[in-house]
Amino acid sequence: MNIDMEKLGLSDSFKEQSLSYPDLFIGRVISQFKGIYKAALKDGEILAEVLGKLRHEASSPLSFPAVGDFVMLDRNSNKSGNAIIHKILERKSVFIRKAAGTAHEAQIVAANIDTVFICMSLNNDFNLRRLERYISIAWDSGAIPVVVLTKSDLCENIAFRLKEVDSVAMGVDTLVTSSLGKDGISAILPYIKPGKTVAFIGSSGVGKSTLINRLAEKDLFATKELRNDDKGRHTTTRRELILLENGGAVIDTPGMREIGIESADLSKSFSDIDALSKECRFRDCKHEREPGCAVLKAVEDGVLDEQRLASYKKLQKEASYEGLNSKQIESKKLNAMFSEFGGMKNFKKNLKEKYKLER
Ligand code: GDP
Ligand code: ZN
Repeated sequence: MNIDMEKLGLSDSFKEQSLSYPDLFIGRVISQFKGIYKAALKDGEILAEVLGKLRHEASSPLSFPAVGDFVMLDRNSNKSGNAIIHKILERKSVFIRKAAGTAHEAQIVAANIDTVFICMSLNNDFNLRRLERYISIAWDSGAIPVVVLTKSDLCENIAFRLKEVDSVAMGVDTLVTSSLGKDGISAILPYIKPGKTVAFIGSSGVGKSTLINRLAEKDLFATKELRNDDKGRHTTTRRELILLENGGAVIDTPGMREIGIESADLSKSFSDIDALSKECRFRDCKHEREPGCAVLKAVEDGVLDEQRLASYKKLQKEASYEGLNSKQIESKKLNAMFSEFGGMKNFKKNLKEKYKLER
């Protein structure tokens, strides 16, 4: 089977990066099971593992490939055993979560997602604080969030709910769906374009699988199973990246489903503090005791909660420890921040009002 790699997200930027490796083949990781990866290449699907050297030099779990990664492989078929992944191309977005039981070890859940649908049901699951948390997680990943309010058939005050959502999701598109009818995904479809990758997050039971299943009715990878010729046994990996018939892809990994559950402590959206930092006299202000620190001033003025600043610092430490402060993610966050606050001018006014509301 030939795979249309462009539809699968192979953009000019990845192509350009791949030019540095003329002897290798470009592929995209579509599933992962222990040390074995399944990648999609122009010529079909292939099993692969990570180059030993890469494995030994890996400084953190973030140096390993994840579903959604574009990687450079040493071969394009499994005729002579598993392919070897030599290089992970620079990610444009990445979802991480803390590995269970460890303080700092982060795990990559998925990479290179363009749009993430944050699903919240309009009945029991409706919770604005949680929504805010998911939006924050999405922006931090580098992906663009879209709010999907599900089960509209079970809600009688949709207009009111939409207003509430708007108060925490300013600048984020919000869709309303119901999977009862046939057109449950019609609102979502315009957001899934050839070459773009989407994912669904949100609490269990809100209707993510129902939406994904409907999208995936025409999944081009659906029934594929690969033979691991190296060891002479079959390896069936769960389908984790779904290539849709009319282009575009959906990433649905177990980790993706759990996002937002265990990362509750990374919960709050800190875009307000980020914005304040821009007002600090020093660009690298740590908000400890520097003169002209706008963040400390906000605490002093009672506009910003001290506890909140402490959690922010904690999060910053973790983020820099993991080396996740890529320029790209930063700039996306900045954009998000400004659109969320309707520009810097309105920011202070909004911030004050926001805190008044929360107290
Ligand atoms: P997930 O855990 O987020 O993947 O949620 P599921 O897709 O498994 O859905 C959980 C339950 O909600 C199932 O029983 C679905 O049939 C039901 N459900 C999903 N979407 C809708 C909807 O739009 N309206 C109603 N009434 N039920 C829905
Ligand atoms: Zn400062």
